[in-house]
Amino acid sequence: MNASPPPQTPLLELHDVVKRFRLPGGWLSGQARYVHAVAGVSLSVQTGEVFGLVGESGCGKTTLGRLILRLIEPTSGQIIFDGQDITHRKKKDLRPIRREMQVVFQNPLASLSPRMKIFDSVAEPMRTHHIVPESQMKKKVHELLTLVGLGPQHASRYPHEISGGQCQRVAIARALSVNPKLIILDEPTSALDVSVQAQIINLLQDLQEAHGLTYIFISHDLSVVEHISDRIGVMYLGKLVEVGDAEDIFNDPQHPYTQALLGAIPRPEVDDDQELVILEGTVPSPVNPPPGCRFHTRCPLTTDICRQKEPALVEVNGRLVACHLVQAS
Ligand code: SF4
Repeated sequence: MNASPPPQTPLLELHDVVKRFRLPGGWLSGQARYVHAVAGVSLSVQTGEVFGLVGESGCGKTTLGRLILRLIEPTSGQIIFDGQDITHRKKKDLRPIRREMQVVFQNPLASLSPRMKIFDSVAEPMRTHHIVPESQMKKKVHELLTLVGLGPQHASRYPHEISGGQCQRVAIARALSVNPKLIILDEPTSALDVSVQAQIINLLQDLQEAHGLTYIFISHDLSVVEHISDRIGVMYLGKLVEVGDAEDIFNDPQHPYTQALLGAIPRPEVDDDQELVILEGTVPSPVNPPPGCRFHTRCPLTTDICRQKEPALVEVNGRLVACHLVQAS
């Protein structure tokens, strides 16, 4: 008898997902130009896992989140959610999936209607998906507000009457209200004060542990996702350049870009003599990504092959890395 547990089916699988946006113009010349926002991303996320997705502004991480939510149509590739291929599913057929995938955005004030009381903001998704009968709505909303560290007294207020951190707690309560299988957290703390950021991260972590939630946590800041993530994917100019266990990535980053992102975080435990990769310049335009390794214009370790040949994302030392130098060593 085979006593080993059956292999777990991923909750989410992306296979070579591409998203190009056509720029206006070029019709007469026949020279269409595109923003190559996501350039072939493959990854899987297990149920109950926290996957941190990090990279500088413009790297495609938010576009990838919107593709997973099917708020935008992929150019090519495949998106499998909970065993179902949702890549080209029509809007009306996405409704049950929308309930199972929720999102918390960066700016809580923008995601809550200024004309709706907090009670109705939290109740709205449950009404849309007919989850809770109206007779039990008050009890349910109060439970959710308590769960996110607010109270029934907040239900009668409007978003402008509570703080930014409290608004983000309301946005989290809204997301939780429909019992989603996956929550995409898109920079959920970056619009908040530093002290409030820590409170929201702690709340998200407590909720994840208590309810076995699955998160994709998108951030430009590696330090934000450090403690909450099980695995981390580092994105640069539309591609994943390193994917691995969070601990491995933080203790021993392999890709020069990951090393540079980590080098920008003050970390007392890091040896002063350790050589840091200093990140200079800005991310090149995704309209004309550099040939070869997309990071070669900023990488201090660039060699000839880096300018000519794109490194594949392959397994090195127990994680996935896209770098000629790492693969050769
Ligand atoms: Fe740097 Fe070359 Fe590695 Fe790209 S492939 S990260 S340019 S060393």
